Amino acid sequence: MDFDHVLEHLRQLHTGHDDLRAFCDFPDDVVAQPVMARHMGAKDHFDAETGLIGNEYAATRSLLKQLGPLAYWRDTYAGTNVSERFMDEFGCFSLIGHNGFFKSDQMNAWMVYMPAGLYYPWHQHPAEEMYLCLAGEAVFKKDGAPDQHMGEGGVTLHASNQPHAMETLDHPVLCYVVWRNEFTTKPVLTYDDAT
Ligand code: FE
Repeated sequence: MDFDHVLEHLRQLHTGHDDLRAFCDFPDDVVAQPVMARHMGAKDHFDAETGLIGNEYAATRSLLKQLGPLAYWRDTYAGTNVSERFMDEFGCFSLIGHNGFFKSDQMNAWMVYMPAGLYYPWHQHPAEEMYLCLAGEAVFKKDGAPDQHMGEGGVTLHASNQPHAMETLDHPVLCYVVWRNEFTTKPVLTYDDAT
């Protein structure tokens, strides 16, 4: 894998979207770092996924697929009351940040994948967050705002510790997710019973 190419791709993706650029400058302190690959069921679901509608970000989707076998797939909600299916099928790995292909003190970035018909319970974190929908579609929920049905190219912003949730219906979804300001505190479920 040519990580200079991966970084350049991420830079283009990020700076090519007005809302992302406004949310956070693409960092100028990015350094590549080794990653220990960590497999999860979600990787296999992502590999086999054929339902991610949309073409605008096809090159990014393809790059994320190539990174899949090398990535540290995260089990952020292990030990909580999320469903077994969620633990198996919710996909996330870091691009920039802890256990990611790159590190930066300015910004963290992830890929997030959910197959069709999956519910991501309410959760929150101190970092401010922006989601860019790369392909597919989902219902994005955040406290104090109406549900947002979002597809390719759509963005949503979460304030610090603003509870948010997400649900896929008939389609899967693939997102690029960026954090700014507070990287050290992991997300926690808003409700212990994972509603
Ligand atoms: Fe979040």
